[in-house]
Amino acid sequence: MGQDHYDVIVVGARCAGSPTAMLLARKGYKVLVVDRATFPSDTLSTHILHPPGVEAMQRWGLLDRLVATGCPPIGTYTFDFGPFALSGAPGTEAAPVAYCPRRTVLDKLLVDAASEAGAEVREAFTVQEIVVEDDRVVGIRGRGKGGATVTERAGVVIGADGRNSFVARAVHPQQYNEKPQLLSGYYSYWSGLPMDGRLEIYTRPDRGFAVAPTHDDLTLVIAGWPFDEHEANKHDIEGNYLKVFDLAPEFAERMGGAKREARFAGTAVPNFFRRPYGPGWALVGDAGYNKDFITAQGILDAFRDAELCATALDQSFAGARSFDEAMAGYQSTRDEHVLPMFELTCQLATLEPPPPELQQLLAAMHGNQEAMDGFARVNAGVTSPAEFFAEENVGRIFAAAQERSAAPARAG
Ligand SMILES: Cc1cc2nc3c(=O)[nH]c(=O)nc-3n(C[C@H](O)[C@H](O)[C@H](O)COP(=O)(O)OP(=O)(O)OC[C@H]3O[C@@H](n4cnc5c(N)ncnc54)[C@H](O)[C@@H]3O)c2cc1C
Repeated sequence: MGQDHYDVIVVGARCAGSPTAMLLARKGYKVLVVDRATFPSDTLSTHILHPPGVEAMQRWGLLDRLVATGCPPIGTYTFDFGPFALSGAPGTEAAPVAYCPRRTVLDKLLVDAASEAGAEVREAFTVQEIVVEDDRVVGIRGRGKGGATVTERAGVVIGADGRNSFVARAVHPQQYNEKPQLLSGYYSYWSGLPMDGRLEIYTRPDRGFAVAPTHDDLTLVIAGWPFDEHEANKHDIEGNYLKVFDLAPEFAERMGGAKREARFAGTAVPNFFRRPYGPGWALVGDAGYNKDFITAQGILDAFRDAELCATALDQSFAGARSFDEAMAGYQSTRDEHVLPMFELTCQLATLEPPPPELQQLLAAMHGNQEAMDGFARVNAGVTSPAEFFAEENVGRIFAAAQERSAAPARAG
């Protein structure tokens, strides 16, 4: 039996777990955060950090450390649809750029920040059991590498343990808005592929790929195909991956001068929401809400969850609101915020051509910098798709396109 009783135990110490632990420790709570991994270590994920995620790092006082790692900033998102491309700025005044930091770097930085805030961090510690008494989660049982099994108790156990969450499997939360895997994606890192501060996203029938600069002068390139090709294509990942670039000949030419510096990694993920709380437990990050990676929202969603959940727990511990009331607020704020992006993400992940109305809208945006910036901000998770695709904004974009096409005639 461990000696301590914690206010909170967090299972999982990456994008969701370490910030949650850090924020609660900063509020003065006694926090234990455990992970079966050690840090720095990589995980199966690409790592576009859109401006809202960068803004969270800034709020937490961690952005300078990220910038100091030499990660190149990304100030432009370019969406190449074949016949035309839209280029816009994804950021805001507060957070003008995105980054694409290796998870080896980002996650280590977050773990260190949790530790500095006063959270006890146990690496290489695997949780093997969630301890339940009188229908309430009261702790965890697990062991460190080579150590004996210990039990640790806490007021609340938080599952920040990813989409296959062990905590969720133990507490059986309600699951909703479920959709199966839609997209299969594989990535690697390339040298000799300069990006000049751009994230490039290419959309072709049944295929898509994205390219972004990361640490060590390397460029991340991820390519995807519909999930119904997953089984057939996994026998020749490299061949199928390289074939995707033939659909964008100018890019294929750039790839001709590049060299692959890492093995391929990839997967397909299901889409779901889980009720993120119950007696003695909570879920943050992918454990509570998972969606396809095509829109690269997972890290910033994990950061938002960390803030919402830490605030709700603080209110509950301080007696300002009951646990159920505070955590229901966390759930409804999360769901309202992410639902429009979840729907857009699931639509994009099919890799089906956009419906005709959307194709017309995309064409109307071409050459309209304000609209292209707006579109970049939607993809960056800055502006809600509900707001951008609202009738009034769409009407404005079509009207501006009409004016542009009428202008030369008037001038003549
Ligand atoms: C192919 C791919 C590409 C992606 N690209 C992007 C992108 O570009 N941008 C973006 O924002 N998001 C991206 N995502 C999503 C992103 O990876 C996740 O949203 C993010 O990692 C969620 O963080 P998390 O902390 O919730 O979970 P995770 O990062 O999965 O961390 C969970 C942690 O829990 C630990 N753990 C699990 N079980 C136990 C246990 N029993 N005991 C102890 N520890 C345990 C694990 O060791 C792990 O460290 C991508 C995902 C995939 C699959």
